[in-house]
Formats: sequence, C-alpha cells, structure tokens
Amino acid sequence: MSIEKTVSALGEFQLIETLFSRLVMADDKRIIKGVGDDSAVLNIPRTQHLLTTTDTLIEGVHFNSDTDPFILGRKALRVNLSDIAAMGGVPHWYVLSLAIPSTTSLKWAEEFARGLDEAGKRFNVSLVGGDMVASTGPIIITITLNGLVGEGRAIMRSSAQVGDRIYVTGTIGDSALGLAHRLGRVKISDAHHIEFLKHRHQIPEPRLSVGKMLQDTAIARSIIDVSDGLVADLEHICSASGVGARLHADKVPLSDAARAVLDGDDTNRMMQMVLTGGEDYELIFTASADIADAISDITDQTGVALTEIGEIVKGESVVTVCRDGEPWVLERGGWKHF
Ligand SMILES: [Mg+2]
Repeated sequence: MSIEKTVSALGEFQLIETLFSRLVMADDKRIIKGVGDDSAVLNIPRTQHLLTTTDTLIEGVHFNSDTDPFILGRKALRVNLSDIAAMGGVPHWYVLSLAIPSTTSLKWAEEFARGLDEAGKRFNVSLVGGDMVASTGPIIITITLNGLVGEGRAIMRSSAQVGDRIYVTGTIGDSALGLAHRLGRVKISDAHHIEFLKHRHQIPEPRLSVGKMLQDTAIARSIIDVSDGLVADLEHICSASGVGARLHADKVPLSDAARAVLDGDDTNRMMQMVLTGGEDYELIFTASADIADAISDITDQTGVALTEIGEIVKGESVVTVCRDGEPWVLERGGWKHF
C-alpha cells in the first residue's frame, strides 16, 4: 500500500524552493530581489503609482476540501487580477500567504502551485514572496497583488457623474448559474451549457486589456469589477460617487447558456440570480454619453463586448432596476460576507 506524501515530508523551505520559487517571470527587470530574502525589493518607476489589492480564500467558506487545487490556484490569482483591471492598472507582483494543515498531500500543494503558475504566465505576473504556515484548521490562502498605473491615472469608483452611461464587459450571471447548477438549484439539460457555465464560475477572466484601454483613452470615469453581484457592485459606485443609477435588466448581456436557462420556467428567479449572484469578474464602468466610437474601438482591439446597461442619475446611492421600463424590486441583494 502506498502512502500519499504530505507537505510535512518536504518541510517549509524545501516546499517553497520546489513549488514556489519558480513562479517568477524571468523578464521582469523591476524585481531587484524576489523570493528568498526578508522582503522583496521592487523598482517602482518615478511616473507610476503602486496599486495593492488582497483577497483571502478559506476552505469551507470559499471552496471545499474536494475542490481541484489546480483550478483553485488559477482562480485565487485571477480574482486579484480583476481588482487591478478595475483600477485601469497593469499587474506585476504578488505575495502568497498559505496556511495548510501538515497532513495536506504534497500533490495538493503541487497542483495549487501549478494553478498559480498558469495564471502568472498567462497574465505576466511574478510571485515575489510569501509565508507558509501549518494550519490547525482549514486551508487559508491569501494573495496580495501589486500593479502599476500612471501617476494620477487610477480610475476610482468614486468619480461617476450624473448623466454617465453605465457599461459592462462580457456577459453577466454565468458564474452564479454555474454555481447554482453545481448546488442542484437549477436544472440544465444541455451538456455544453453546463460545461460553459461551470468554466465561467471556476476560471474567471480578468478584463485587464479593457481596463488598461479605458485608462489609456481616459474614457471611463469610474470602474468596479463584479464580485458581489451586478446590482451590489453598481451600488458601490453609487455610494462612493454620491449618485443613483438606473439599471435596465433587459439590456444586461447574457451568454447563450444563460439565455437558455432563463428561457426555462422560472425566468424571474433566474434573472434575479443573474443580477445579484456575483463572481462575474466583469467590469462595470461609467462614461459620458458621447463615446460610442471609442467603445467599438475597445471591443475591436480586445475582443471583449461592451454593453450599455443603464445610466447614472441624481439620487442617494440607490440602484433602481427597471424591467420593460418599470421599476422592479428584487427579492435578494448581492453577496454579503457578514
Ligand atoms: Mg473589486
């Protein structure tokens, strides 16, 4: 009988050496010192501002013990990348804090590192340091990601103006529907649709190219990425900007798979799930009304669809969801952590 090797068989230093010291982009000349000293040393160009974002995933809360660690590694990095996209920045470096029980299989750690490696190479970001500790409870993964943006060019969620149009990238609701299917809360018969929605839930696509172009062209007044849900995250723009918003539910872009689910019997409930489910990691941005040409340029260059879904109005941080032109009161809000 073969006994599966655990991380404790390797020990902290060898684990870091074998799994994580390779997650560095060889061509990044701004890394003066990465993994292997008390602190990373990074060369920040004079004309740039540093962006910092962090995200924690806890076993039993955000993922389960049977979640594929390769997918988990990819997702853990990608959700942070989405936050850099939502500032109009370019991601560069991350640090990883990993708390894992000593009984965790070495295979789990290897697959998790492989997931980080995939996302790091795809989006050109390097691991520059971190910490690994033995957990007496669940696995806890914290990634802190740094990016750069031109001095004074970061796009805040607080700058939306009355009269702005509201746009969203890609399609909304796929992730929530993919999760709902896994939890047995929605029935989907088409195997391709199931696979598509599952993929959208597991492997978010950070909209870095769109975020960067919105920043380069100075089109967007405000941006946020959709993690808590379309309505809830639009509300975050509203409260930060001191404005209201009208969101036209019938204009929200849907994938073919989501459309097929909505065309089933419980359209009302499914549409609410689309609007509030979260984890889309698409960008919501606001821009003045006269930018139609610029919008189609961005789509041409990035291959990402941008759809107008509403407008910023006077008001106190409230998103009015409309359907067929009439206000529609939703039964549930976005994801709340507490
Ligand atoms: Mg965010």
